[in-house]
Amino acid sequence: MKHPYYTTNQLMHEHYGQKVRKICIDGGFTCPNRDGTCGTGGCTFCGERGAGEQLDASRTIRQQAEAVLNRAAPDSAWILYFQNFTNTYAPVEILRQRYDEALIDDRIKVLDIGTRPDCITEEIADLLAEYAKKYEVWTELGLQTANDRTAKRINRGYDLRCFENAVRILKSRGLPVIVHIILGLPGETIADIRNTIAVLNRCGIDGIKIHSLFIMKDTKLAEEYLRGEFTPISMQTYIEWAAEVLTHISPDVVVHRITGNCLRELLLAPDWIMQRDLMICSIDRMMMQNGWTQGCFYQPDAVPYGTENSAERMEIHEFQG
Ligand code: SF4
Repeated sequence: MKHPYYTTNQLMHEHYGQKVRKICIDGGFTCPNRDGTCGTGGCTFCGERGAGEQLDASRTIRQQAEAVLNRAAPDSAWILYFQNFTNTYAPVEILRQRYDEALIDDRIKVLDIGTRPDCITEEIADLLAEYAKKYEVWTELGLQTANDRTAKRINRGYDLRCFENAVRILKSRGLPVIVHIILGLPGETIADIRNTIAVLNRCGIDGIKIHSLFIMKDTKLAEEYLRGEFTPISMQTYIEWAAEVLTHISPDVVVHRITGNCLRELLLAPDWIMQRDLMICSIDRMMMQNGWTQGCFYQPDAVPYGTENSAERMEIHEFQG
């Protein structure tokens, strides 16, 4: 089915002429927002495994890669995704060792690294650029929002300036940047989402992953939810806001994901996030019925309040909120 936005599948067909699937790896990293380096407890929505809850952490990195590749067709192509926690949070030599442990096969075409902007340095970007001589190298940054007040509320542990700096460092080496955003964060409105998109367009990001905020059991967000301090958005609101993102993001940005993923046994609320196919169909249908395509309302010159005229724009935003 053709989606009204530029998908990873489309990109991979352009690059390799075939579907490219993903191997998710738990690289045994932790996160500076959990171990006390920049914070403790982590982002309020983050579960104990820092994403990738389905992965078997008792296996070595190599075993995880082999478990998939040993059964895969000889002519298949793969994205190797270091998923859990912060996969650039270690000295460069350790990073090299762990990435190499998984890069066991020429069928791997893309090295995909999930991390935080405050764990991107010039030295780490140089390392990633070395890998980019042989593989496509993608760096995924979990921004979630460009609003620094929301970032404080969710205990993200870095500010927008830090994110912009990381994007600059990566892009100066020609490395593509994929950004994760969450819709429905506590206190956020459509104005915050528009601002986040303006920031991303301005930074010239290459890819985006969008999902709705969901509440996992045993997280800080779960405590807020159970105390009645936070209510998730409805599925309909998510569909409308996701369509807003897709119609305002640059048409050149690859849309890697428009739904979240949570193991049912770990999910507290809302239930509707398990209906991924319905969400995708509903977003596509809303766009098609309105004649919308990705970037049809893209405004390359939109000024986000997180960058220039910050104070003035923050006041406008507060008034709107
Ligand atoms: S940065 Fe990522 S891994 Fe670390 S606490 Fe936040 S969501 Fe979890």
